[in-house]
Amino acid sequence: MIQIIQQREKCIGCNACVEVAPYRWRMSKKDGKCTLVGAKDKKGYYVLNTFDEEWKDNVLAANICPVKIIKVMQL
Ligand code: SF4
Repeated sequence: MIQIIQQREKCIGCNACVEVAPYRWRMSKKDGKCTLVGAKDKKGYYVLNTFDEEWKDNVLAANICPVKIIKVMQL
């Protein structure tokens, strides 16, 4: 399993994460920030545990996020 964390408040809505992992990231029409699909809000940090198969795409998302608010860890 892996864990993905997003500090959503700081998202600038650049869409980069959506482009590399569209099954996991979605742009919100409400506030122009992206949403980590399936994540739970833990005091502003959106946290999701998911399968190892998502590692590569989401590490790429973390690396290209211009404001560095995505973290991916092995559990
Ligand atoms: S790459 Fe970062 S700043 Fe861009 S939409 Fe995703 S979380 Fe937001």
